[in-house]
Amino acid sequence: MTERHRAIYERYDDRCGYCGHHLDTPRADGKSGRRCVDHIVPDRTDGRNSPKNLMPSCWNCNSIKHARPLDFLRRYRGLQKAGLAEIVSLAQYDELVNVGVPMPPLPIYEFHFEGRAP
Ligand SMILES: [Zn+2]
Repeated sequence: MTERHRAIYERYDDRCGYCGHHLDTPRADGKSGRRCVDHIVPDRTDGRNSPKNLMPSCWNCNSIKHARPLDFLRRYRGLQKAGLAEIVSLAQYDELVNVGVPMPPLPIYEFHFEGRAP
């Protein structure tokens, strides 16, 4: 682990900046202790690798967000919170709302990093 990555992980006490999961604690998906450094804005050209654009992330959040905007992960976690993620994808949820199917609103998911300033 580089010194630079070390500093990024320490920003949130070795917790995922998105979900708050401790990065050394095994989780049910079996991807224990897998740390990632996520690019918050994936296609940012000005300072893509600047510390402000880097977030310590667990493997789970990183694989869900992938190269998508941050709002995708927030809405996906909301879909999970509503118990709908096993039934529909986010795209399907949006499509159902667009054609007028009454769907429960997605609860707001607050990221771990929003709870405290780095
Ligand atoms: Zn996470």
